[in-house]
Amino acid sequence: MELASLYRGTSGEPGLCVRSGAGFAAVADLASGAGSEGLAGLHDVGELFALGESAVDELRRVAVGAAPTLGLDEARYAPPVNRPGKIVCVGLNYADHIAESGLTRPERIVLFAKFPSCLVGHGEGIVRHEITAQLDYEGELAVVIGRRARKVSADEALDVVGGYTIINDVSARDLQSAEAQWIRGKALDTFAPLGPVVVDAASALPIDEMRIRTIVNGEVRQDAGCSQMITSVPELIAHISQSITLEPGDIIATGTPSGVAQGMDPPPWLEPGDTVSIQVTGIGELTNPVVAPR
Ligand code: MG
Repeated sequence: MELASLYRGTSGEPGLCVRSGAGFAAVADLASGAGSEGLAGLHDVGELFALGESAVDELRRVAVGAAPTLGLDEARYAPPVNRPGKIVCVGLNYADHIAESGLTRPERIVLFAKFPSCLVGHGEGIVRHEITAQLDYEGELAVVIGRRARKVSADEALDVVGGYTIINDVSARDLQSAEAQWIRGKALDTFAPLGPVVVDAASALPIDEMRIRTIVNGEVRQDAGCSQMITSVPELIAHISQSITLEPGDIIATGTPSGVAQGMDPPPWLEPGDTVSIQVTGIGELTNPVVAPR
């Protein structure tokens, strides 16, 4: 099941939609047609996951054979999770990216955070803020938490995953290297494009079969299997949930492989007019233009 948060008509509020045939069906329409009141009024995947697994199962039932009411071409995407409680990011989780960054493998797992204000949907602009001259991309697999998780073991960790999507861990390298904390280097507005869809965990490929490709202006820059992660998704969830309670809709960005601009000579920093596309096998393609600040 592919889930998206789409703007419909002139309404400023996105609604939860499910991929069906050649387009999307609005969950609000499916809910009213099936008398599933619990599914009415959902804006995004976070709200669905907060209702629990029975709601996801119910949606799967009512979505079978649904007629698409919105074509793929007409879809305007919000981030599939609009307001996650947290976006926990993992740094330096691919050996070849550590090498291109001129660093050595850290002894501890590197975690940092982004804010909900970083999120933009598929097709929305990444702003090259005036305060950076070194804007970079990082294609990553994003895990969306499906149910509350506290102190879960790695063996149980995949049970708390609600689904998977794609995130661009946009980075301002000059700020990241000049400031002790990475907040401005990593968490400026628009620095977390997310989407286009969340594939629910039951339908997703095994993580080791997923591959990340990042394409800038038509040129492949990153191309690596998710099996190359140093700390696997179950181990990451176990590590984070040891002391940070994960809630439905929370997002974990799992790290980027090599091929970022910072690792190239000279670095082809992102500029307004550039386009970044990130593909993850079995999920889709997240594309965002880079735009000048307004
Ligand atoms: Mg990253």
